[in-house]
Amino acid sequence: MWKQVLPAILLTGAILSPGRAGSQEPAPHQVPALARIVILATGGTIAGVQPKEGEAAYRSGQVSVDSLVRAVPDLEKLASITGEQIASIGSQNMSDFVWIKLARRASELLLSPDVDGLVITHGTDTLEETAFFLSLVLKTDKPVVVVGSMRPSTELSADGPLNLYNAVAVAADPRAAGRGVLVVANDTLHAARLVQKAHTTAVQAFVSANRGPAGELLKGAKTTYFLPPSATASSRTFPIAGLSALPRVDIIYAHENADGTFVKAAVAAGAKGLVLAGVGDGNGTNELIEALAEAARSGVAVVRSTRVGSGIVRRNIEVDDDSLGFVAAMDLNPQKARVLLRLALTKTKDVKEIQRIFEEN
Ligand code: ASP
Repeated sequence: MWKQVLPAILLTGAILSPGRAGSQEPAPHQVPALARIVILATGGTIAGVQPKEGEAAYRSGQVSVDSLVRAVPDLEKLASITGEQIASIGSQNMSDFVWIKLARRASELLLSPDVDGLVITHGTDTLEETAFFLSLVLKTDKPVVVVGSMRPSTELSADGPLNLYNAVAVAADPRAAGRGVLVVANDTLHAARLVQKAHTTAVQAFVSANRGPAGELLKGAKTTYFLPPSATASSRTFPIAGLSALPRVDIIYAHENADGTFVKAAVAAGAKGLVLAGVGDGNGTNELIEALAEAARSGVAVVRSTRVGSGIVRRNIEVDDDSLGFVAAMDLNPQKARVLLRLALTKTKDVKEIQRIFEEN
């Protein structure tokens, strides 16, 4: 269980000499143990290496979790750390196989009384999807922090070491408990549901467009939480214990002159759900909307989201969701809506129930 003492106190508190047996000296304060944090590594740029020094090109997922930990000065003063390698991939190759392996191992560790929190190192490309997936499948109050970096470990001014230091500090912070899965990037904390990657290469790559970041921190110890736990934790979780695969859900990107070709192809490929990355407020050409309505009539779950990057897609604004049988994605971008729809489909095919899930989570 949680130590009630912040790691920062551990760093600054004097270590008292042990009292002598039989002496009248007051018993020394117990020096509390450090929080026990497990780092689950999956690869990404944070573990990336440049084959040629000084060049921008690099390969993700080359450095082991032990080397990552060794590269961060003073990390061992923040927490008692162990590491496990779950995968060594660029997160553009993230797959259901790795997700399920990661979620199973994370669940096991979180159930252990010997683990106080988890840090997951991850590539930034699909970090928001994995963080949101974990927030929907891990039933825990212990802190779970997902972290990546924009620059490889061998780059000038690599951002990985400080991001990892900050992530461990948050995972070891009792105030992070009950806040759901958090993402740490560039001194900023984000909620898994809200965060999205918004820049291809900048160190400040992540934003939480609709409600802003969940907090801010400075070299680990001074975390300020902006949002209450109720705004960042998921209200319902989806058990994956018995699952070996998730239903197929494809994203259909809307644009000028779009027709229904890709909708039909996705349904033919076995999609059980479709997410529209719509223009504007989740819109599409008449042909595209009609193809989606046809899919909905055939029992495929259709969720309308937007390619815009911020804002909320609500029911029945320009598109008549009631008569077409669609679900509105609310504030979830297409890639997040896809994650939630896949999990929702493990429980129900009922459109009204799926809409309720989108409004709650
Ligand atoms: N392609 C890399 C990945 O997602 C990018 C990064 O980590 O920043 O693994």
